[in-house]
Amino acid sequence: MTFHAKFSGYADPALHAAGLYIGGKWQSGSGITVLDPSTGNLLAEVADAAIEDAQRAVDAADAAAAGWRATPARQRSEILRRWYQLMTQHAEELATLIALENGKALADARGEVAYAAEFFRWYAEEATRIPGEFRHTPSGSHNILVDHEPIGIAVLITPWNFPAAMATRKIGPALAAGCTVILKPASETPLTAYATARLGEEAGVPPGVVNVLTTSNPGGITNAMLADPRVRKLSFTGSTGVGRVLLAEAAKSVVSCSMELGGNAPFIVFDDAHLEAALDGAMIAKMRNAGEACTAANRFYVQAGIHDAFVAGLTARMKSLKIGPGYDPETQCGPMITQNAVRKIDRLVSEALAAGARATTGGKPLTENGYFYPPTVLENVPVNASIAREEIFGPVAPVYKFESDDEAIRLANNTEYGLAAYIYSRDLKRAMKVGKRIETGMLGINRGLMSDPAAPFGGVKQSGLGREGGVTGILEFMEPKYFAVDY
Ligand code: NAP
Repeated sequence: MTFHAKFSGYADPALHAAGLYIGGKWQSGSGITVLDPSTGNLLAEVADAAIEDAQRAVDAADAAAAGWRATPARQRSEILRRWYQLMTQHAEELATLIALENGKALADARGEVAYAAEFFRWYAEEATRIPGEFRHTPSGSHNILVDHEPIGIAVLITPWNFPAAMATRKIGPALAAGCTVILKPASETPLTAYATARLGEEAGVPPGVVNVLTTSNPGGITNAMLADPRVRKLSFTGSTGVGRVLLAEAAKSVVSCSMELGGNAPFIVFDDAHLEAALDGAMIAKMRNAGEACTAANRFYVQAGIHDAFVAGLTARMKSLKIGPGYDPETQCGPMITQNAVRKIDRLVSEALAAGARATTGGKPLTENGYFYPPTVLENVPVNASIAREEIFGPVAPVYKFESDDEAIRLANNTEYGLAAYIYSRDLKRAMKVGKRIETGMLGINRGLMSDPAAPFGGVKQSGLGREGGVTGILEFMEPKYFAVDY
């Protein structure tokens, strides 16, 4: 049995190597290799778009724009709803595909597909509830009418760590708003994006409304699209470094930007926390996707009275996780996305150890095939170590001891990022008071997982601009138009 034959239907990598998806047509090509991170073996090869392909994609999105904008909201809603149903129907195959190309454990991949599909269901509902506004001028002499219009063609750029959900979190609101889009998925995980587009086609998305391009020249392609005056929106999810480059590029054509960037989430455990609940939450906040999440707990600040018990409990749980390929149903911690990711984690851990930290479990990359790093807990980590400043993006939990609430707040805010934070305490008033002072876009109180299509997802400081999801997500793809009418 060949490797591909083992994974049939939508889970077959070969099916999704059909090529670029432009104007409702699949254009074959090659040039970008997709690897299985658990072995380093080739999974598939996908097309490598050139600048002319990006121009054709903008042409296709433009040709479809007027028709899609004029499509009644109810009809747009029904297409999104069918897309949700098809993703749900093919959930197991999509989860396998994600586990294959991204490496995450199947349980995480199943969770991602459910989460991703929910964006289509949520925005199917929101499509029919786009708000307007009516006010009286303060003088009382006139009225103010505000309509919301689709912003125009949107370029969507997504990372590899949630290959389905980061795409649907953008496509759902964009289509609900009446925009046409060009999706550029990450080069490591293009198969899920193509599989999702194929389901959209089946759901009845008209040609040109959604276009998908993979490329080895993301900068050149994106700059060419942003320079085209028909493109009016850039929605990016990825690292803060690339986000800054794209903001500068978008400024040249004054393109509206939504930026979902990096994180460095603090996870604060107070003495009065329920220990088992805090450990359960810590495992979710740290180990979902083996730590490769922007919301992943990156810095564990644990109050002195509960510190030792927390470290012992976390060490036992991390040690017990089964490491393996994501598509093996027994696996709880899959490989990292690339060898470079393993090298970065190794550097951060080695520097922390050299500065006086101690690994209570893990602490060194695994040597077998594939890009594996073991679940690791570090204690006695100096608060100024590089591991406290940089995103780890891996299964490493550095623990820092603190004494007072003020100290926890100061440490938590000592970062350029502000995406997510977590607090565990039985005293809700205390947690809320501390939470008000944490610089973050999202805060989990006694919860290790906060992502929800109905909630506004996004960060402050260097973690980004704008919000995705929730009732506000759709407005990122709309422009308010004010009508001053004399009547
Ligand atoms: P990345 O290196 O910034 O890449 C993200 C996307 O940008 C990929 O599609 C990449 O394409 C593309 N890209 C790279 N350089 C570009 C350029 N010059 N112009 C246009 N596009 C360019 O990030 P990543 O390593 O894939 O993802 C991890 C990062 O994403 C982390 O920092 C994480 O925190 C963040 N993230 C944030 C959120 C959030 O909601 N805030 C969610 C998930 C992840 P190629 O793959 O072809 O290079």
